[in-house]
Amino acid sequence: MGGSHEDWVITEFRAREQRQNVATGVTLASLAGLASGFFTEGLALMAVIATVGSILFGFSNWSCPSCSKHLGKNGVRDGCCYSCGVRLKDDSSWMERHWHLGPALLLLAGVIVALLIRSR
Ligand SMILES: [Zn+2]
Repeated sequence: MGGSHEDWVITEFRAREQRQNVATGVTLASLAGLASGFFTEGLALMAVIATVGSILFGFSNWSCPSCSKHLGKNGVRDGCCYSCGVRLKDDSSWMERHWHLGPALLLLAGVIVALLIRSR
């Protein structure tokens, strides 16, 4: 035995990382819409809510599943928790290593949508 808790930590951390990426993606997409010059009150409101929301969400969500320490920006060192040293990621899967592409794609989609609406 002994492996099940470690497996749970990795699974739980992956879920948190994905939720975090979704929150970041929504924020980036709405900010991208504003940055590309497409300004409406609705979009500005969405950008503010998404930014504040993802920061607040990050505080509660972005923590080590094992010791509950907030991980901040540099809390993950070589795939392990800086505080208790538990392994948070096994870097074997392609999806795991390329998940950061998600927010970038959403950002791109946000810019394209904003440009399309603007050009009408
Ligand atoms: Zn920890």
